[in-house]
Amino acid sequence: MLDSLRSRLILLLLGMLAFMTVAMGYAALGAMQRDSAAQARQALDVASRVFQEALSNRATQLGNSVRLVASDFGFRQAVALREQDTIASVLENHGSRIDATLTVLLTTQGDLIASSGQQVSQAQISQLFKDMRLSGQDSVSDIVHIGDQAYQMVMVPVKAPQLIAWVAMGFSLDTALANQIKALTDLDISFVFGSGTTNAALLATTLPDDVHDTLTSMSSDKQLAVLDQPLLTTQKALDRAGTIQALLHLSTAPWQETYLQARAQLLAIFGLGLTLAVLFAVALARSITEPLQLLTQFARAIGLGQSLQPPAIKRGEVGLLSDTLQKMQHDIRQREQQILFQAQHDTLTGLANRYLVELQLPALLSNQPLWLLLVNIKDFKHVNDAFGYKNGDSLLEQLALRLRNAFPVAAMIARLGGDEFLLVNPDALQPADLPALQQQLSTDFSLDNSRLNLKLALALYQIPAQTGNANDALRRVEIAMVHAKASHQLIAEYQPGQDESHQRELTLLHDLPLSLQSGHMFVVYQPKVSLRQRQAGSAEALIRWQHPQLGFVPPDEFIRLAEHSGLISRVTDWMIVQVISQLASWRDQGIELTVAVNLSAYDLLSSDLPGQIAALLQQHQLPASALALEVTEGAVMQDPQQVIQNLQILRQMGIELAIDDFGTGQSSLAYLKRLPVHEVKIDRAFVKDIEHNHNDALIVQTTAELAHGLGLLVTAEGLENLAGLARLQAAGIDKVQGYYFSKPLKAADFAQWLTEFQQQHNRWFPEV
Ligand code: C2E
Ligand code: CA
Ligand code: CA
Repeated sequence: MLDSLRSRLILLLLGMLAFMTVAMGYAALGAMQRDSAAQARQALDVASRVFQEALSNRATQLGNSVRLVASDFGFRQAVALREQDTIASVLENHGSRIDATLTVLLTTQGDLIASSGQQVSQAQISQLFKDMRLSGQDSVSDIVHIGDQAYQMVMVPVKAPQLIAWVAMGFSLDTALANQIKALTDLDISFVFGSGTTNAALLATTLPDDVHDTLTSMSSDKQLAVLDQPLLTTQKALDRAGTIQALLHLSTAPWQETYLQARAQLLAIFGLGLTLAVLFAVALARSITEPLQLLTQFARAIGLGQSLQPPAIKRGEVGLLSDTLQKMQHDIRQREQQILFQAQHDTLTGLANRYLVELQLPALLSNQPLWLLLVNIKDFKHVNDAFGYKNGDSLLEQLALRLRNAFPVAAMIARLGGDEFLLVNPDALQPADLPALQQQLSTDFSLDNSRLNLKLALALYQIPAQTGNANDALRRVEIAMVHAKASHQLIAEYQPGQDESHQRELTLLHDLPLSLQSGHMFVVYQPKVSLRQRQAGSAEALIRWQHPQLGFVPPDEFIRLAEHSGLISRVTDWMIVQVISQLASWRDQGIELTVAVNLSAYDLLSSDLPGQIAALLQQHQLPASALALEVTEGAVMQDPQQVIQNLQILRQMGIELAIDDFGTGQSSLAYLKRLPVHEVKIDRAFVKDIEHNHNDALIVQTTAELAHGLGLLVTAEGLENLAGLARLQAAGIDKVQGYYFSKPLKAADFAQWLTEFQQQHNRWFPEV
């Protein structure tokens, strides 16, 4: 949370304000406190001056009173007569008249004559006398301590008319006096003797009892508190020796109160200020961060590709940033559109690509029937090779343009691959129109001032309205294209059911490698019977596939698929392994056979096969003559040089080789001559009706003669009945293979058949 700009701004502003406030408050309160302390002290000073003034006024007043007593005739007479008893009562009477607690009469030399009230010693009075004499005045006043009391003493001469004696009167410093002065100065007052010493004593005070002990040990400025009210205290020495002291106490409560009031006000002001500052800081921080937050949201929306209105910020750097983001959004949108276009279109022709077709076709399908036309340039690779890629590109562009012109209302024209275009048309396309369209699209291209025709294959599929599915539709038109390419006209329309057979093909291709391993494939053997020896010394191995779901799958079907998909070498390898191990096991049982395995064109295009076969034969300690191979003419034509070279190697190894299906392929006698084979197998097509068809019989006979002429053995395939056998014998055929002798059999059945065949020749060769 503290990471956000807003909170940091708020914290910074508040921190600064709080610091300033506290510093100012501290300074102001400090000054106020010092000021009120100074005021209190000043008030105390003033009050203590008033106190001193009051004390000296009292001394003058008392002096006058005492002088009045001393001038009294009766008093003077008693003193002059020195009548002890009279003096005592006079002192007593006159003293009490002016409220003196102590009265002393001295000789002119200062010797004690008499005293009343408190008993006074000569020593105690001598100092007073000495002071008075020194001052030279006619009356003197001082504070003295006698017994456990302090007195304000006043001494005056008694004249009759010469000086006859001195009279001194003392007035107790008691609570009454203290209260009197308190009424005058508004200060609390204490009189203390010998403050700080061991025999210190409190003489009088206006303060309550609980502070009495503290008062005797007070030093100046010591803090006293009465009823929690702090008292400011100052000390005044009352006598010369400084042992009697007046403590003047000033309550600082009023100042304290003003100070506290001021402090409370100040705190309230600062509190309010701080609250306002918080609000201000929050508002300020928000005003700064809110636009930033809006921009952040906006930027995030841009990142997510959402279209959000940019925040309406016009002022300052943030406004600039907003503008920049807005422009960025615009640029990104443009680039996105560009990239999207590129991702959905072919860069060369500008047509839609496969991705866009897959994206948009479902929507196009929903309400109307559509016609899909796939156009494929046959052998476009050769065009590129012959004329270069630049010219190839130019042809593609021209073809794209022709498609556009030919179908102005097309829902979509796309280039699906290098040489394949797709037209999605809402108007009907009839198969009958396709040849003319093919002509129009494929002829007369201009290339470097010369004219050129392309070979175009056209495949058509009508997507039914509502029920159509885009993926199915594309797959179906592509299936139709496979048929178109295979057809002579290079034109095909999708036929119902082709999709299913295509699906079956996919399943077969997928399952084939697995089935080779899992025992769903096995080998059957069909005997080849030599007519001269009437022996079955050889056989052909044929593959069988019992598919767990699809049932029996004819070899013609999956072998063709395997050849087209490159899987055939796996089949061949598997067959050779199976056959060689079966041969070995037959040898162990005393059955000596030569078994032929069928090869496909692709098997002989690489030179791996001879080595593989040699290794297997050796592994099972079999002679090469145990294995034979059958090759079709078509296989040889793929790459005659390579195939013939491989065949030669195999022949040198001692393996018997046969040309299969002779007479059906592009037979070339020239090749036949060059092929290193031992045997020719005449195709079943010429054999199956030989007993009825004179032409077939002739072909078989001519082929046999020709082959014999080249030093080759001749095998006839597909003999089904006895009548045919006679014809084949007549034609000079060496070996015969066909249902007449046996259908292809599993290994165990084959061995059984062999025994039967050897024992019952007459069954197959009744002497005709
Ligand atoms: P193919 O090599 O010409 O094999 C002979 C085919 O003729 C076999 O069919 C066999 O059952 C059939 N046949 C033999 N005698 C008669 C007869 O009297 N009447 C009739 N109607 N048919 C007869 P199959 O086994 O269905 O094989 C068909 C083709 O499949 C084979 O023709 C061969 O081209 C291919 N094929 C079979 N097994 C293999 C194999 O292991 N490898 C390769 N590459 N191709 C194989
Ligand atoms: Ca064969
Ligand atoms: Ca054959």
